[in-house]
Amino acid sequence: MAFQLIDLHDQQGNITCPHCQHAVLDWEQEQYIQPCEHTLFMAMDLGFEYISDEFETTMQRSVDDIHADDENSNVFDEITRATFTDFLIYKADLGVEGMYRYIGFSGK
Ligand SMILES: [Zn+2]
Repeated sequence: MAFQLIDLHDQQGNITCPHCQHAVLDWEQEQYIQPCEHTLFMAMDLGFEYISDEFETTMQRSVDDIHADDENSNVFDEITRATFTDFLIYKADLGVEGMYRYIGFSGK
């Protein structure tokens, strides 16, 4: 495993990049998804909100394939099967039973 999983329990708050402190999830913006250059992906169990080319090329399936096959797709499994080396996954509770948002950052 090339990633580190970090659980976030405060699903109300903004989420900031550990490298540049940019708010990649910023609830004060109309477009609240604000990826920075360190952001690899932003996804929920229902699908991807953002994916970087760099990360997508290391995944077993493309995001389009995953979305086209959503009944048989598990977003978290797809992320963790990527061969990208050294990344962080922030796992944020969405406040709905068993639903999470996953945000990936490069490890350095
Ligand atoms: Zn950043």
